Amino acid sequence: MRLANRIEKLPPYLFVEINKKIAAKRAQGVDVVSFGIGDPDIPTPAHILDRLNEASRVPANHRYPESDGLPEFRKAIAGWYHRRFGVTLDPDTEVLPLIGAKEGIAHMSLCFIDPGDVALVPDPGYPVYSVGTLFAGGESHWMPLLEENGWLPDLDAIPEDVARKAKILWINYPNNPTGAVADLAFFDKVAAYAKRYDIAVCHDAPYTEIAFDGCRPPSFLQAAGAMDVGVEFHSLSKSYNMTGWRVGMAVGNATMINALMRVKSNLDSGVPQAIQLAAIEALTGPQDCIEKNVAHYQRRRDKLVAALTRLGLRVLPPKASLYLWARVPEGFTSAEFAAKLIDEAAVVVTPGSGYGRYGEGYVRLSLTLPDQDLDKGVERLAALHLADR
Ligand SMILES: *Cc1c(COP(=O)(O)O)cnc(C)c1O
Repeated sequence: MRLANRIEKLPPYLFVEINKKIAAKRAQGVDVVSFGIGDPDIPTPAHILDRLNEASRVPANHRYPESDGLPEFRKAIAGWYHRRFGVTLDPDTEVLPLIGAKEGIAHMSLCFIDPGDVALVPDPGYPVYSVGTLFAGGESHWMPLLEENGWLPDLDAIPEDVARKAKILWINYPNNPTGAVADLAFFDKVAAYAKRYDIAVCHDAPYTEIAFDGCRPPSFLQAAGAMDVGVEFHSLSKSYNMTGWRVGMAVGNATMINALMRVKSNLDSGVPQAIQLAAIEALTGPQDCIEKNVAHYQRRRDKLVAALTRLGLRVLPPKASLYLWARVPEGFTSAEFAAKLIDEAAVVVTPGSGYGRYGEGYVRLSLTLPDQDLDKGVERLAALHLADR
């Protein structure tokens, strides 16, 4: 058998060593507390599940959905964007349902990247931006996200020849893994930059609703000229605890939305209709479930920040997202520190180096574990003694 080069070229899975350690611990019967994955532990709200149950019994929903989704789902998405961000979208040309944002993100590269083309990709970042680029035959030009820049890419640091060549630019705020929030002024800058160099902007925004201390993260589409140059990916996964149902959306520039629809209609058959109907219920029904979730996450955030600070890690409470991004103590790499926490406390954190070169020196902790597990993790961290202290 001869696999395609794109498979051989996939970056090595950086969590192999950590996963081996977790498996070994569990095999010994140790109860491991994991701050690893960002996947809400709280169930999907009951009113959304009721709608899904009901819709699952209607035979029309057992058939292939349309690639571009139900018109009423596209309308519900446009309505939500208008209520939440004041952004006006044409449901027929500027909205596209996705089988989760990840699916659309991966496919968008096929719309813009030919072999040899360049994508501007944040480092550290969600791996799908660069893997999608790789699968389309393109190359990622990494934009470092640095603490001193508030984890925003420095567009002026991108060499002129790279900017001229680049076809697509990926950004993600509230950010995974750093928890950073971008303001509208930054999005204005991105839109102007994209216009100047004729680059398509893709803003990945699944965490806008998971925000703390009264913070209301903006949409990229609120920026001046954004609709001319870009789209935004959003998702029901994090806002409504629906990761397992696989439903999200791309919204924004009609040319980009149409290209994505054409790729998708050749490769997949859309979001199952019962799930689209449940998603309409999520977007148009009562929204107090989001506030309740956020209150849980905020309490967890505060407990965990306190525990990590006592341990000597430098960490700021994030204004949004499901993650803490903590600086590892002097003398450790990300992977070494993560290994130490597993070995000595049976606590799993994600080494920042797994998100890119510039993630080295940090670890990511997710807030999506039940309170009793989080409390157990916090106790174990409190009992830990770092060798160099
Ligand atoms: C969770 C996540 C997604 C994926 O969302 P789905 O709709 O579940 O596919 C996309 N981007 C980032 C940065 C995420 O953390």
